[in-house]
Amino acid sequence: MGGFFPSFMADECLLHADSVNIGEGEPTWPVILEDLKNGGLKRMYKGGCSFDLSKMKVPRRDLFYRKTAYDWDEDLVQLTRGCLYNCAMCSVPAHMGQKIRYRPHRPGGRRNQPAQIRKRVSGRRHPFFHAAQNHGLRPRAA
Ligand code: SF4
Repeated sequence: MGGFFPSFMADECLLHADSVNIGEGEPTWPVILEDLKNGGLKRMYKGGCSFDLSKMKVPRRDLFYRKTAYDWDEDLVQLTRGCLYNCAMCSVPAHMGQKIRYRPHRPGGRRNQPAQIRKRVSGRRHPFFHAAQNHGLRPRAA
């Protein structure tokens, strides 16, 4: 398991799962797969909250287009992680760090994600969901 809840409630999740990832998955996912392949899956992995977003891979969104597997129309786009505020009800700073990390406009020389999505669906605008917590803090980065 991974994500917000397992990151904060790892012991509870380990009652139901073989392994839990705390924090971000990008640093740990290759290790988890390798450990699983070798039969040495650990109970807990720690991915931290400082992954360099310029190294994010473009996700295989086409997997979500298979209507037999998912009932989800919008593409998910993430351009930032973390937050420098500390609102009492919010788990983002504790999970993703207390500074905002930005995904570059053109990682690896490519255009940003919304542009990729529009291009991918050949001229037709495809709906996308901006999966970021702070939409208005630095508009020029989005
Ligand atoms: S992500 Fe939004 S709700 Fe959470 S700490 Fe930042 S400003 Fe507050």
